[in-house]
Amino acid sequence: MLENMNEKCAVVGIFGHEEASKLAYFSLHALQHRGQEAAGISSADDKKLHTIKNRGLVTRVFNEDKLKTLKGSSAIGHTRYSTAGDDSILDAQPVFARYDLGEMAIVHNGNLTNAEEIRNKLIQRGAIFQTFMDTENLIHLIAKSEKDKLLDRIIDAVTKIEGAFSLVFLSRTKMFAMRDRHGFRPLSLGKLPNGGYIVASETCAFDLVGAEFIRDVKPGELLIFEEGCEPVSMQILEPTPKHCIFEYVYFARPDSNVFGQNVYQTRKEMGKELARVKPVDADIVIPVPDGGVPAAIGYAQESGIPYEMGIMRNHYVGRTFIEPTQEMRNLKVKMKLSPMVEIIKGKRVVVVDDSIVRGTTSLRIIKMLKEAGASEVHMRISSPPTTDPCYYGVDTPDKEHLIASRMNEDEICEFIQADSLAYIDKEALLKSVGADKDENYCTACFTGKYIV
Ligand code: AMP
Repeated sequence: MLENMNEKCAVVGIFGHEEASKLAYFSLHALQHRGQEAAGISSADDKKLHTIKNRGLVTRVFNEDKLKTLKGSSAIGHTRYSTAGDDSILDAQPVFARYDLGEMAIVHNGNLTNAEEIRNKLIQRGAIFQTFMDTENLIHLIAKSEKDKLLDRIIDAVTKIEGAFSLVFLSRTKMFAMRDRHGFRPLSLGKLPNGGYIVASETCAFDLVGAEFIRDVKPGELLIFEEGCEPVSMQILEPTPKHCIFEYVYFARPDSNVFGQNVYQTRKEMGKELARVKPVDADIVIPVPDGGVPAAIGYAQESGIPYEMGIMRNHYVGRTFIEPTQEMRNLKVKMKLSPMVEIIKGKRVVVVDDSIVRGTTSLRIIKMLKEAGASEVHMRISSPPTTDPCYYGVDTPDKEHLIASRMNEDEICEFIQADSLAYIDKEALLKSVGADKDENYCTACFTGKYIV
């Protein structure tokens, strides 16, 4: 249970701005793709912290009146993406606590790999937990630390936890941002237009609030924000970068720059690489919207085959991935995507998607395209086969549900009823992200080679 609790979420922190909670709200809005389950903001004035969080989309959780109650010049926020069936409001973030030094709130994107071990030790020492979130461990570690200052207690706590974490802490007067030693999940620092600073999971949040990108928070670095000062940097953990390559493949928004590169350009490059290594004779290239769009554009440009919007996506349906039963997932794919018969009929179609997880989407789409009259359907995937689950914060099913862990490419091709199927391999993927070797990237979902 524990290992699934802080899936691909988004975090934001605003410091030193009169309208901190409003800016946090807008930032969360830009980061909504990283989690639609719940949203929350804590703000700090000199007297106390204020928190509002609830299930649902950012626009549903907040309105003007609520934001007005989130007073103060600093705020942190979170959007949450969790596994199905777990709908407790207690599991929404920020996690807030009162302790001997005052009040604090924490937001977390990532997944702690030693959470269970730490929790058991804490429980043996008398701690009581209210949620299943690994983030609650941090509250206890900070509260129980014997150090006098919050800064030292945070250092104490982050040196005990392992795994993936991009964290933002808020106290009444300070804000802290911390990234794990591998920098699994992104976290960037920016400057706000009228003074103050922002940290956010992705730079698309900066664009919305008019912030200027300064740099990424470094792996293992702690940033301390204090009134009237520039952020102070402390290198707490030895950096060994292993950025999540799946952020480039699927998760981050195309207009963001993560790990130093623009996501859209990187995805387009993956599509070009796919066209070079896995060409096919066809009449049109179409994307599986929205994930497959940049790679399909790249594939079309490189191959010279015309790009068409062959499938329409209905944006008012939630993600299909989180539905618990196969039957529901099938229905949701149909609700979400529909073919354009006029474009597809009689054509040899290359359909490009970013990944195949269970195989549900590909199977449905190929059936749909054939029913719409496609004469051939060639599936092209702009990443390697997803063979292994992620323990560092991306929501993937257990290994047995990952189609590529049970079947080889020919078997998958037959299962999804495609005329041909091809992926890019790990080397081609790394080449597209501008890396010769996988030294700086975590590719465990394609290789099963876990770092921690
Ligand atoms: P599936 O139908 O299970 O094979 O899922 C593949 C589809 O889900 C692709 O269209 C991907 O864009 C998308 N996808 C890949 N990874 C994730 C994820 N972690 N969460 C939600 N959707 C995903």
